[in-house]
Amino acid sequence: MPSNSAPNTTSDSTSDKRKILVTSALPYANGSIHIGHLVEYIQTDIWVRFQKMRGHSCHYVCADDTHGTPIMLRAEQEGITPEALIERVHGEHFQDFSDFAIEFDNYHSTHSEENRELSQDLYRRLDKAGLIAKRTIEQLYDPEKEMFLSDRFIKGGCPKCKAEEQYGDSCEVCGATYAPTDLIKPYSALSGATPVTKESEHHFFKLGECEAFLKEWLNREGNAAPLQLEAANKMAEWFDAGLRDWDISRDAPYFGFEIPDAPGKFLYVWLDAPIGYIASFKNLCDREGLDFDSYWQPGSDAELYHFIGKDILYFHALFWPATLQYAGYRTPTRICVHGFLTVDGQKMSKSRGTFIMARTYLEHLNPEYLRYYFAAKLSDRVEDIDLNLEDFTARVNSNLVGKYINIASRSAGFISKRFDGQLAATFDDDGATLVSAIQAQAAQIATLYEARQFSEAMREIMALADQANEYVSDKAPWVMAKQEGAEAQLHCVCTAIINAFRVLTIYLKPVLPKLAAEVETFLNVAPLQWSDVDGLLTDHAINPYKHLMKRIEQKQIDAMLEASAATLVQPKPSPARHGEAQQKKSKPEKSETTIPENGAGSSMNDETDNTIQFDDFAKVDLRIARIVKADHVDGADKLLQLTLDIGEAKTRNVFAGIKSAYSPEQLEGKLTVMVANLAPRKMRFGISEGMVLAAGPGGKALWLLEPHEGAQPGMKVK
Ligand SMILES: [Zn+2]
Repeated sequence: MPSNSAPNTTSDSTSDKRKILVTSALPYANGSIHIGHLVEYIQTDIWVRFQKMRGHSCHYVCADDTHGTPIMLRAEQEGITPEALIERVHGEHFQDFSDFAIEFDNYHSTHSEENRELSQDLYRRLDKAGLIAKRTIEQLYDPEKEMFLSDRFIKGGCPKCKAEEQYGDSCEVCGATYAPTDLIKPYSALSGATPVTKESEHHFFKLGECEAFLKEWLNREGNAAPLQLEAANKMAEWFDAGLRDWDISRDAPYFGFEIPDAPGKFLYVWLDAPIGYIASFKNLCDREGLDFDSYWQPGSDAELYHFIGKDILYFHALFWPATLQYAGYRTPTRICVHGFLTVDGQKMSKSRGTFIMARTYLEHLNPEYLRYYFAAKLSDRVEDIDLNLEDFTARVNSNLVGKYINIASRSAGFISKRFDGQLAATFDDDGATLVSAIQAQAAQIATLYEARQFSEAMREIMALADQANEYVSDKAPWVMAKQEGAEAQLHCVCTAIINAFRVLTIYLKPVLPKLAAEVETFLNVAPLQWSDVDGLLTDHAINPYKHLMKRIEQKQIDAMLEASAATLVQPKPSPARHGEAQQKKSKPEKSETTIPENGAGSSMNDETDNTIQFDDFAKVDLRIARIVKADHVDGADKLLQLTLDIGEAKTRNVFAGIKSAYSPEQLEGKLTVMVANLAPRKMRFGISEGMVLAAGPGGKALWLLEPHEGAQPGMKVK
């Protein structure tokens, strides 16, 4: 066996060095990053780190998505300029990403000079290509706010079932879809004023004329196929339905970029947002002297990958390649689409504390736990992944700590204490077999990373860790350490173990970059590259071992959930949610603008479809409840403990975050409404078996719902 010393760190030969540009969807600048968003950024970052370790030229760019009506209104609500708002959010987003070890080569903003120039130029090129149409349309206008209203900002009666307070595009009660002009007694959700119909000239991108090109692009075969099968099937459905022109203009007032030669008209945020990918890269090129054109011209030899969530496929698979093609740019190599995140099998929920903000997670847990867990769940398919908190704890503790870290911790001490930190010149025979077996999987694991089959890669790596642990158990260095004359053998065995650990660290480094850096310090080696797999670490001095990673304890998870539930008490930007008391789904209300939450999905969206079908609503079992007893809770500033009678043999126990507004005496004997089929949640004070409904921004301004006289405990609310 070779016994060279420290492994070399040269990259792959330059002849097969690829030029790769990678993006993640741009987070919208009106809210915080949550763990649902992180699925995408972690997935992308792992892939990028892998490419960089392979020695390829790989750049990862992103930006905040900053334009549109919600940003404008939110800034107005906070009494600041949109520029001040987006600057503050940019700082928060960047910090959250950095703390999760997501390493962008550039993190820019769509509100930048580069993006203004590129967006207006792209518009001009599309216009020149004959792909812009101008048509006068009728739209509802708020005479008080002096602005046109998008569907989301208009409410009124459903034209079909007459249900009141429905949005301008669809009815949440009967599921009907319609135009906002069809609403009965429509009103502006911003001012309450009755909107008037007003004409306005809009600019449209003629998507229909791009169909032949889009089909050709989609049908590129084999490695050139730009979409996963599921996404390609979705495209086929859209083709069948017919491609409609896309309205790309908005009237002033609007926070965005003006359309060239069209005063008072702005580019719709969805047009300039993806151009933000190009703008961010342009900004990087100008800073680092990269050749911008060689990446973006047609026929470029660079590869272009966009990682996105399934909810924004329409924009990325239709509009984006079409606008690029006809504006004279190259088109994407591949669009990598992922599903959403659920927590414990359900949509992330504020009331259960599972709507977890990135910052809240960071305050309680090591970010690399989540990176590992997501890697262990992610595949190349467009499917949702579940963060099962029990499984999360079990996998991190048993795989990362119990299997992988354990390999080092069971051998490092002997090297330090018995051999002065010096590794042996050679392994024993079994050790040599083990190390080469682990090395032999490098190509297979690389193939899995390349194909974004991270869960398969993690499985392979953990199977190798199992082999290493079997070797450790068989050799039992702690027994050898007590035997006379076994010194040399102990030295060889521990050296083999450290080598096995080193190769496994290389395999895990794209997922666990911070931990890998600590291992590099421990092993006293330069930053590990993929090609270092083949090297061996012999006759080499390592540093004393310090414990690398702790187990997760249940109390950390509990504390995180509790803190997540508690963050809901802040009234902005989301509607108030008070512990177990929850309002109905967020909607823009009169004189208050609440922004649709971005769910567990991805980014780049200002007008998320926030509607649900009747079936979704019907899943919620709402019951009339009598508050039999209300108590203070020791050690809780915000909670009251409610004992509720809902006509069942046994009363329900619910912790509700309403202490700021009610004393227990005010509540006893009253009727209210509770969600009876909410999964029970373990809290520090006991189990909460449902929640009660309240309205209001929070603090003293909080009101429990109470039915009219005559309702009885246990009655269904429907
Ligand atoms: Zn209806």
